[in-house]
Amino acid sequence: MAVNLAKTDAFTVQAPNGVLWTRKPGGRSSAGDLLRELADLVKDHIEREWDWWEDGRRDKEHERQWAVLAEWDNGAKDPPGFDPDAAATACMEDFDRRMEEQRRERKALAAERYDKERESMRLRMLAVEADAAFFGHVLERPATTVQRDKAEQRMEQQRAVAVTMREQLGDPEAVVDRYGFFPEQRREMNLSSHMSVWRHPMLRGLHESKQRKRFNALLAMRPVNSAAMCSECQAPSHWHSYALSLCLFRGQPEPGSQAETIARLMPGWWDRCFACTAYQIEHVWGASSALPDFDGEQWAAMLPPTLKAIFAPDPPKPRQPVVRPKPLAVIKAGAIEEVMAKLAEAKAQFPDAVVRSGRHGSWELWPPA
Ligand SMILES: [Zn+2]
Repeated sequence: MAVNLAKTDAFTVQAPNGVLWTRKPGGRSSAGDLLRELADLVKDHIEREWDWWEDGRRDKEHERQWAVLAEWDNGAKDPPGFDPDAAATACMEDFDRRMEEQRRERKALAAERYDKERESMRLRMLAVEADAAFFGHVLERPATTVQRDKAEQRMEQQRAVAVTMREQLGDPEAVVDRYGFFPEQRREMNLSSHMSVWRHPMLRGLHESKQRKRFNALLAMRPVNSAAMCSECQAPSHWHSYALSLCLFRGQPEPGSQAETIARLMPGWWDRCFACTAYQIEHVWGASSALPDFDGEQWAAMLPPTLKAIFAPDPPKPRQPVVRPKPLAVIKAGAIEEVMAKLAEAKAQFPDAVVRSGRHGSWELWPPA
């Protein structure tokens, strides 16, 4: 990357692609500013926008970027008779045309390749793999030997099932959905939604509610590679091995539907991604496959630090001991001489005290109100 100060008044910079840029008169941005903005233009939008969680941040960054670029000239001239409005319209039309063409191609692909059976087998296989990974996490720190044996048995069993399913299915990446999208394409879309529909609003919410620990943990999370995303929901796929799903667009089950009934009977069933471990449901349902001695605390303890900071419930606050006011002195019920003598003694000690009747016929001396 060469940065040259020309001998004239103008400030000239050579971009990495060899194009020479000259700062226009009155421009204030530095060569470094220009090169940074040029590099930013070709960055992946996830990498660029990952931390732009504040309301309106995207527009501000856009304005700032174009203010810098507008101060520089690369000598490119518009052809004679160039009409910027017509060019913008043509660009939009071209975009629409390409979108329409892709939609047609996907429709044809779905008609030729979509197979409901293969689609659901792929999802079952992913869920079984997530199960095996879940039991693997349990085995890192099992609560009891009975739990360890059971988790070991379940992990081996699910691993074997997943291997058989993979053999039957063939390449899971070649399974198109009903709209003609491959898993890889869905992962890219899901990553974009993870950032703009979940991460950014979540950071805003945590910031507003002053949940600093969760906010800092989420902000510190670096951009996920799209290959690491789930193709079925907006979560990174390893979240599924911890029974975490992020189905942002599923909505609610249709009232009166069978799905609504199941959702009511099995908490967590509707919210779970089809590629996620089903362990949570087994546990809530209390089936024989539920791990003995497993509880929410153990689940939270096995989460990686970032997921723990974001998703684990806060530990219950230690209860503040209730401080009850105590009387200055208590005089038990008894013979009149005794009580009178003790009262006289107490009067000498606490001349301003107020006497109230206490429990079991006693007298209590309290500070004056
Ligand atoms: Zn998922």
